[in-house]
Amino acid sequence: MSRFSFYQRFSRAFNGHPSLANILVVFSISGGGLVAYSESKSYDGVNIVNPSEVDSKKKRVVVLGTGWAGTSFLKSLKNSSYDVEVISPRNYFAFTPLLPSVTCGTVEARSIVEPIRNIVRKKDLDICYWEAECFKIDAKNKKVYCRSNQGNNLNGNEEFVVDYDYLVIAMGARSNTFNTPGVEENCHFLKEVEDAQKIRRTVIDCFERASLPNLSDEERKKILQFVVVGGGPTGVEFSAELHDFVNEDLVKLYPKVKDLVKITLLEAGDHILNMFDKRITAFAEEKFQREGIDVKLGSMVVKVSDKEISTKERGNGEISSMPYGMVVWSTGIGTRPVVMDFMKQIGQTNRRAIATDEWLRVEGCDSIYALGDCATINQRKVMEDISAIFSKADKDKSGTLTVKEFQEVVDDICERYPQLELYLKNKQMGSIVDLLKDSKGDVAKESIELNIEEFKKALSQVDSQMKNLPATAQVATQQGSYLANCFNRMEECEKNPEGPLRFRGEGRHRFRPFRYKHFGQFAPLGGEQTAAQLPGDWVSIGRSSQWLWYSVYASKLVSWRTRTLVVSDWTKRFVFGRDSSSI
Ligand code: FAD
Repeated sequence: MSRFSFYQRFSRAFNGHPSLANILVVFSISGGGLVAYSESKSYDGVNIVNPSEVDSKKKRVVVLGTGWAGTSFLKSLKNSSYDVEVISPRNYFAFTPLLPSVTCGTVEARSIVEPIRNIVRKKDLDICYWEAECFKIDAKNKKVYCRSNQGNNLNGNEEFVVDYDYLVIAMGARSNTFNTPGVEENCHFLKEVEDAQKIRRTVIDCFERASLPNLSDEERKKILQFVVVGGGPTGVEFSAELHDFVNEDLVKLYPKVKDLVKITLLEAGDHILNMFDKRITAFAEEKFQREGIDVKLGSMVVKVSDKEISTKERGNGEISSMPYGMVVWSTGIGTRPVVMDFMKQIGQTNRRAIATDEWLRVEGCDSIYALGDCATINQRKVMEDISAIFSKADKDKSGTLTVKEFQEVVDDICERYPQLELYLKNKQMGSIVDLLKDSKGDVAKESIELNIEEFKKALSQVDSQMKNLPATAQVATQQGSYLANCFNRMEECEKNPEGPLRFRGEGRHRFRPFRYKHFGQFAPLGGEQTAAQLPGDWVSIGRSSQWLWYSVYASKLVSWRTRTLVVSDWTKRFVFGRDSSSI
């Protein structure tokens, strides 16, 4: 029996006899190690069970979160020299891009989730999973404090501490309400699978409520007023899904109220989908207008009561209110309290996300990594290191830099400072010579020589190309597999993985810094039309992109099981329409 399965079985038995928890000692056979449940400790007056005092030579890696970043890390981890403990209140991975489809029953909730135990069981590694949430990270003592989801079942021992050698924080983010009064209490969010299921039930409840006898048309209209706040990809996709659900399915079942339905999309900025190409934004706004989705631009929500939503118009500051049946709030992401507390502890206050370096190591912390929506990379600026770059490149120590000298190190500089490559591309500079020439005027290539001040001037605009990475599944998943690859080779490179600023001839970085590759983005707009913006500013809108969307999303699903279920849901929807039962 493998140590992992033994451990799992023991855990199950342990759940049945919680009173034995603190005294049991379990010998792990195949691993040869001793797994001990230590005695209870106290933290803030609460008894805490420490399940992770594993007498093992292996380094302990604790992963917080089973979302895109955490799961991608676990899937790519191959090095068996770690004891991996995964902690997350969700014992499954959810394919979030299909959440809007769940809100209207186009796809079933179960089709887009995969149990995390199913994902890790296929790996020949020591990985165990605890269904719990981390409520405190103690970076100083290398411990995380967790609380089980299982409530009363553990006889008051639902809190425990886990020690780590390496901590991977992949806890994602929460919906951002911007402290708008009434949002938390009265709005729906679209972040988790449960949110999507709740929205689906509420939409159907609204139709049933509006169909009851003895209601005036005015009252029915209020119930069937659906408001979506936030014109980003999620808000737009949900509005389009809801429009399709109403017009393709519900109108047949609720013919008496079909003309009273109204969908309003509120956006505080000038346009919806403003992170997309202008052609996509314009197409989406026109399409919504044609289909009767009321898009209100420059409209900022200031308050939501249990019956009305109040907005302030940007142009004239006028405040108006409208009654609603359901409000879906989708205005971006905020920081989870446990992450905020951790950031305070390590002196990273007044930030939205944990700052890491380009190797995803949390700044100012030892052995802690953060990735996905809860983190942001603090890209190193060229101008911060300009003198060091100059002196490394100036091989003959002449105090000036020739084109040849610079060309020899430019690949290393681009690897360490990706903004330089982006700058050259955006300025349509074919080579580094163009950049140097730019500051030197019209001089022959061979006679270009720059002193430090001229070199600074030549590179002074390069850092303007630095951008924060977007909070997307694409980024999170690439970071997860990047970090796993680092862990796979950790022994090789444990000491100072990036090294000092290194150039050719003096050894290269062992770990390359994380580089994000953008593969494009989709915005489903309903009616079997999708907008696609692919690398190279290639834009396509319409039915062909919808088929591209179907194939990309089907291929990105995490397992053959979910792939089969989702394709079958899409087929069922084409044949029978969406189900409107209120379950
Ligand atoms: P998440 O995937 O949110 O995972 C966080 C994990 O941490 C979860 O398992 C959670 O249970 C766990 N956790 C939470 N609190 C704790 C705690 N206290 N202790 C331990 N674990 C905890 N991106 C795209 O690229 N393309 C899309 O089409 C797209 N569509 C989207 C549609 C919707 C409706 C939404 C909501 C998001 C969409 N995104 C999309 C964004 C994408 O889902 C996120 O960027 C991605 O989920 C971030 O991954 P993550 O691992 O950082 O966080």
